[in-house]
Amino acid sequence: MASLETASPALDTLRRVFGYDSFRGEQEAIIDHVAGGGDALVLMPTGGGKSLCYQIPALVRPGVGIVVSPLIALMQDQVDALNTLGVRAGFLNSTQDFEERRLTEAMFQAGELDLLYLAPERLRVPATLELLDRGRISLFAIDEAHCVAQWGHDFRPDYLGLSQLHERWPDVPRIALTATATEATHAEIANRLNLGEARHFVASFDRPNIQYRIVSKADPKRQLLDLLRNEHTGDAGIVYCLSRASVEKTAEFLVANGIPAVPYHAGLDARTRAENQSRFLREDGLIVVATIAFGMGIDKPDVRFVAHLDLPKSVEGYYQETGRAGRDGLPSTAWLAYGLQDVVQQRKMIETSEGDDAHRRRQSTHLDAMLALCETVTCRRVQLLNYFGQRGEPCGNCDTCLTPPESWDGTVAAQKLLSTIFRLQKERRQKFGAGQVIDILLGRKTAKVIQHDHDTLTVFGIGEELSEAGWRGVVRQLLAQGLLAVEGDYGTLVLTDASASVLRKERTVLMRREQEKAATSKAAKPKKAAVDLPAEAVPVFEKLRAWRGAAAKEQGVPAYVIFHDATLREIATALPKTLADLGRINGVGENKLAKYGQQVLDALEG
Ligand code: ADP
Ligand code: ZN
Repeated sequence: MASLETASPALDTLRRVFGYDSFRGEQEAIIDHVAGGGDALVLMPTGGGKSLCYQIPALVRPGVGIVVSPLIALMQDQVDALNTLGVRAGFLNSTQDFEERRLTEAMFQAGELDLLYLAPERLRVPATLELLDRGRISLFAIDEAHCVAQWGHDFRPDYLGLSQLHERWPDVPRIALTATATEATHAEIANRLNLGEARHFVASFDRPNIQYRIVSKADPKRQLLDLLRNEHTGDAGIVYCLSRASVEKTAEFLVANGIPAVPYHAGLDARTRAENQSRFLREDGLIVVATIAFGMGIDKPDVRFVAHLDLPKSVEGYYQETGRAGRDGLPSTAWLAYGLQDVVQQRKMIETSEGDDAHRRRQSTHLDAMLALCETVTCRRVQLLNYFGQRGEPCGNCDTCLTPPESWDGTVAAQKLLSTIFRLQKERRQKFGAGQVIDILLGRKTAKVIQHDHDTLTVFGIGEELSEAGWRGVVRQLLAQGLLAVEGDYGTLVLTDASASVLRKERTVLMRREQEKAATSKAAKPKKAAVDLPAEAVPVFEKLRAWRGAAAKEQGVPAYVIFHDATLREIATALPKTLADLGRINGVGENKLAKYGQQVLDALEG
């Protein structure tokens, strides 16, 4: 905490309140922009450090920062965490009684809060808007902003009302944040929230500390158990299943095998759900087996693994769910078991789902992209980044990098498919979906082919060496590699900038060989995502953890609200002797130093 005199108010706040030395990535630019009154749209992966991007401007600007968040169940913890830092925060939501609400409202009006958390549905109530009129607002932060996008996977109608914020308070800066955004979602957020004038900050979506692995599904519960026993003994983690029944069965299976686990799904009553979530946040080493109803906004930093026993419905969802692992930056695992049955089941779910055709097409496109990720022969991380419109290098920390799969040369097939699309686009100024393109390749004279005169194209019938399913595989894999893209509600196929290099025969295209039989974990085991601490520091770390556990229990807050594992690790290795030394550790701000400093030093002595 040196040279505070020369630091900007934002940097000073980072050091004094949060106890961190320096900003990460684009945090500083974002904070400066918003603190200066500008609007911002921030795309940053989970764990990237989004919270500070609105918390610090709210502290630096006069007035109260309003944070719109759909995560009612977590507001209490978020507010507790801020209070522990000495930040004056409150929330208004349906879980409060009248008295609590009135108290918070009075504090807001009196300007006695730095941050006020609100659920989006609150802003539909005129009384809330009138309340906000009576106080001074420093900024609006719209968290989980992808909830406004219908294209995305997590649409919430209440978010549509947020466009009115700008009309009602034109001078208050707004910052929208999300950890999940393809280019389509990104554009839709900007559009629907009226953020056309906002500056866009798009961080790298890479999460280098997460090891991505996708295995073929044989006996999923057994495979999961192997993973936990071999690599994650005693670790906290999340296991996702598609159905409530499999959540229950899997949790029971783990418990029967001596692994502490609790279920979480929408069929449980609210009390049990809240209790299981709270236990997950507060206890060390508990596993939650859940449907996707669990986890948004869970900011537990030391989730060491996220396992999927069923195929997620979209890459966006998958990335957000796996992103809950390793927010503290320490090595973590994202593991998915996927089989043919998943595909069949999901296709059927889409076909029979409610909603219009456009909705079904969107779901189908999401699923195809997810399948493509499963099938890739190249680095999973590069694929994921491509999906979010970003580039990367083979990472050396995913299963395809560690144990490369068998592949075949699909260059000629790719050329045939891409030139068919090219001809449609250039010669006929037409765009079609995969079905029509494949019919052309296979030389099928369907009614639609004849209607559009497609049997006269030079490419008609040039692809008879592959089956329809084979061609669908080619389509999916080209989509995955960014050599092809889908567009719009009709899922039409279009060329990308990268397609040209294939058409010009400048590159080869590798495809993953379809595996007929389910493989049991035959692949060489990637090395354990170990969290290393020097041997002599381990007992000290455990001592600190024990102290933290007791302190957390006494105060009724999650352990990480007191200090993160990463901070305890640093203390255990640096062994500070004085409060001043302790204050220099990352994550020890002024308030925590005053509150816990002596206790930590005592724990180190004892
Ligand atoms: P997100 O909301 O983007 O998922 P968070 O805001 O929860 O991420 O931040 C992730 C973790 O990184 C938190 O533990 C946070 O305290 C820590 N963090 C954020 N910014 C910094 C920084 N500048 N220096 C050190 N740690 C940081
Ligand atoms: Zn890789």
